[in-house]
Amino acid sequence: MHYYSLSENLQSFIENQKSSGKKIAFVPTMGALHEGHLSLIRLGIQQSSVVVCSIFVNPTQFNHPNDLQTYPRMLEADARLLEKTGCHVLFVPDVIEVYPPALDTHIQLDLGTLGQVMEGKFRPGHFDGMLQVVKRLLDLVNPDLLIMGQKDFQQFTLVQHMINALALPVQLVIGPTLREEDGLAMSSRNLRLTPELRKKARILFQVLGEIQAKLGQTDLDILRQTGLRQISDQGLKPEYLEIVDGNTLEPILDEKTHNYLVACLAAWADDVRLIDNIILKGSKD
Ligand code: AMP
Repeated sequence: MHYYSLSENLQSFIENQKSSGKKIAFVPTMGALHEGHLSLIRLGIQQSSVVVCSIFVNPTQFNHPNDLQTYPRMLEADARLLEKTGCHVLFVPDVIEVYPPALDTHIQLDLGTLGQVMEGKFRPGHFDGMLQVVKRLLDLVNPDLLIMGQKDFQQFTLVQHMINALALPVQLVIGPTLREEDGLAMSSRNLRLTPELRKKARILFQVLGEIQAKLGQTDLDILRQTGLRQISDQGLKPEYLEIVDGNTLEPILDEKTHNYLVACLAAWADDVRLIDNIILKGSKD
């Protein structure tokens, strides 16, 4: 596996690969890699000839300094996992490479409802930082495919919006959410859960499963309210549980009038914020 921390070195490698006709897939991450991340690397290997994984804990997308400080960092173990999985390139840039002081990297995009609901409502500024880093990394890596996880549903929806709005020459590919045996979505933040909270956190996927099982039989608002109560009863603090149109992310009241439906939630387990979602109906075009 090639390792780059300087973007100019990465770029000359990529240019070489592209000039010999190789297709490049890119998996951006913040490290503390788990099987979910590795499944995206495997998807990249299936769909391209060169897979680039970046590890960059992006300071501009954290809205709580504590979350940024305590975000798990384990570069050596990550590099070993990537190597074993067959990843071709690991890119670990410094902040100065991603945000050179002389370059304005801010993204001016009208996100409309997409950026205002759910994560946008509870994590002000998060999506501006996320889009800023994704755009910047895309400029540096210049891939054919960008591979992201369904786990961050609103994130990939906004990234697709940015790709369309700026006509970026990259195709977004979404990988399914990998889960622990009890259904909890794999997440780097799970490492920070106490054993007791780790057990309780399984309620999140149970709630999503119950919504799926009862879709069409029970009023959506009752499903939401019941789910929120079940999460609270486990001692977690739900932030939101929304059933939304998968394209517009607008909360919906009647499932029959929409073809693409997703239930999304966020909850705090002590000071660890967890998110998850389930596609109830339809798929991304
Ligand atoms: P992160 O390191 O949390 O920024 O995530 C990097 C990428 O991995 C994002 O595209 C996430 O959506 C994806 N990802 C995170 N968790 C999972 C999971 N459990 N299954 C599949 N993909 C995931």
